[in-house]
Amino acid sequence: MTEPGEDAKRAQTAQEILGRDKDPMLDEDNPFEAMMARFDHAATLLSLDEGIYRMLRAPEKQIIVSVPIQRDSGDIEVFTGYRVIHNTARGPGKGGIRFNADVRLDEVKALAAWMTWKCGVVNIPFGGAKGGVVCDPTTLSVNELERITRRYTAALIDVLGPESDIPAPDVNTNERVMAWIMDTYSMHMRHPVTAVVTGKPVEMGGSLGRREATGRGCMIVTKEALHHLGLPLRGTKVAVQGFGNVGSVAAQLLEQEGLTIVGVSDISGAFYNPNGIYIDDALQWVREHRYLEGYPRAESISLDSLLTMDVDVLLPAAVENAITRRNADQIRAKIVCEGANGPTTAGADEILEKNGVFVIPDILANAGGVTVSYFEWVQNRMGYFWDEASVQDRLNAVMQKSFHDVLEVAERHDVNLRIAAYMLAIDRVAAVHRLRGLYA
Ligand code: NAD
Repeated sequence: MTEPGEDAKRAQTAQEILGRDKDPMLDEDNPFEAMMARFDHAATLLSLDEGIYRMLRAPEKQIIVSVPIQRDSGDIEVFTGYRVIHNTARGPGKGGIRFNADVRLDEVKALAAWMTWKCGVVNIPFGGAKGGVVCDPTTLSVNELERITRRYTAALIDVLGPESDIPAPDVNTNERVMAWIMDTYSMHMRHPVTAVVTGKPVEMGGSLGRREATGRGCMIVTKEALHHLGLPLRGTKVAVQGFGNVGSVAAQLLEQEGLTIVGVSDISGAFYNPNGIYIDDALQWVREHRYLEGYPRAESISLDSLLTMDVDVLLPAAVENAITRRNADQIRAKIVCEGANGPTTAGADEILEKNGVFVIPDILANAGGVTVSYFEWVQNRMGYFWDEASVQDRLNAVMQKSFHDVLEVAERHDVNLRIAAYMLAIDRVAAVHRLRGLYA
């Protein structure tokens, strides 16, 4: 780890470059711009050499492809696809593909950088990447979705690969889409290449434990934080925003550890029970009714009040910008574990820090997903599959070590965990750049 610099002048220069570089498309409330602002803060504290700073700000590759497909009607429509590889110093690009009408290149660029830092924090040998196709999946048939996926994959055939760039599911893509990508890539390569994507169905090379990995990672770091703060597990009160993959799994696992989940919410509403909400029961309700709405064994409260409940742990696992300047002062939790990406704005960060809230930042808290994706890639390359207990043990080891690595940096540099996580990740990527040197 580089010592914090006395070379304020050099750091200042980095800030100035940033000023020029700043993307006008990304406004201040944009979580990705907020992420970049935190990157700059961490880079300044590290006194990152100006050359490496410039390299890390610029994605290695930005690809725009046309994705023409025949609609079911017979008409031809052309969609736009992006893939950005931010950095591959430490290993192949890794990052999801989203299908969304709002996908923009700037967003994909920022999300690709985010993946570089996330992989750096948990010290897995991947760089960062992200991709997307501008389309509205709600207006597409399954066959049209498949044609888009296959044509997008074919357009990127020289970029993707187990050694170069490995996609995963993201917004509006799932294991079925990953199976189509794997199949298209394999047909071009003339042999099966399972390691080209992660998040595949288990039957065709997906990893056991991948579905629960992000929620499990949240549980592990929350336990570490409680231990660090000298708080018990039993009876500790938790509120969880979002009852999807991340939130519901985290809630279930925290409950199994003896914590009491007193509040849960989804898009349909928020629910409170001071004696605890039995998560299996709430999940059963959601299976039957799709949403938490109407859940009878807890009191209905407003979505906003879930965030400011009197709890020990708050786990935002739903959307970006849930905690802002508006509500940060009212957060009563001692620990905020960021299951979602970007749930806290930079302005809210300052308020939480002033109030002594212990925030486990997203790039650490929700990195369990990419960690088990890494395990999936390893298993695919070995051709040897682990049982679920082995996956869980290894995830446990990675998350615990990462938490303590970040905590150590935070204590050494007297910064919060978020800045520490960025410092750790940037330093790891920068170290490899220095060792590798600059080609040609
Ligand atoms: P999901 O779609 O399975 O669940 C999202 C949940 O949030 C749903 O229950 C939805 O009803 C709820 N929700 C949406 N808006 C809400 C609101 N305003 N208030 C309360 N609840 C609301 O998604 P997920 O996979 O659980 O992902 C959640 C977050 O975690 C996202 O930010 C995602 O990017 C991030 N994340 C997910 C993974 C993963 O492996 N799934 C990995 C890293 C980060």
